[in-house]
Amino acid sequence: TTLPAEPSTPAVERTLVLVKPDGVRRGLSGEVLRRIEAKGYTLVAVELKQATTELLAAHYAEHEGKPFYQPLVDFMLSGPTLAVVAEGQGVIPGFRSLAGATNPTEAAPGTIRGDLGRDWGLKVQQNLVHGSDSTESAAREIGLWFPGL
Ligand code: GDP
Ligand code: MG
Repeated sequence: TTLPAEPSTPAVERTLVLVKPDGVRRGLSGEVLRRIEAKGYTLVAVELKQATTELLAAHYAEHEGKPFYQPLVDFMLSGPTLAVVAEGQGVIPGFRSLAGATNPTEAAPGTIRGDLGRDWGLKVQQNLVHGSDSTESAAREIGLWFPGL
């Protein structure tokens, strides 16, 4: 006999994770991948990429016009980014939870940003990682960073 699934079991889904240029520069790519895998998510694609202005304009379209937009884009152009597609039950909110609050100074201990990041006194929040915030964002962002997937 097979047991019925728990009613709360989240669907298997995919999310886009980025180890931003600060994370790659600080040698934390492996640590981020380790935390994703240790949580039980599966790596579907991993690629080191140099972002372009066009890619970032699409990726960060929702933030266009905000005061931190141009510094954010310049920061994201400052070096390679590790782009990752991770898969698992509830991985979209799950990775956001692993990442912690946007401001690394406020992010809780135990999270990637809380454990590894802080406010470095720079204008842009160099907060190590990005994670898609919804099913729609994940599909859009995976399409941008991995057109072949
Ligand atoms: P996320 O989804 O937690 O990454 O946060 P958002 O989507 O709101 O913002 C995108 C990115 O812009 C963040 O990860 C930060 O790098 C940067 N950012 C967001 N809010 C601010 C802000 O108020 N000031 C600055 N300087 N950067 C910000
Ligand atoms: Mg966001």
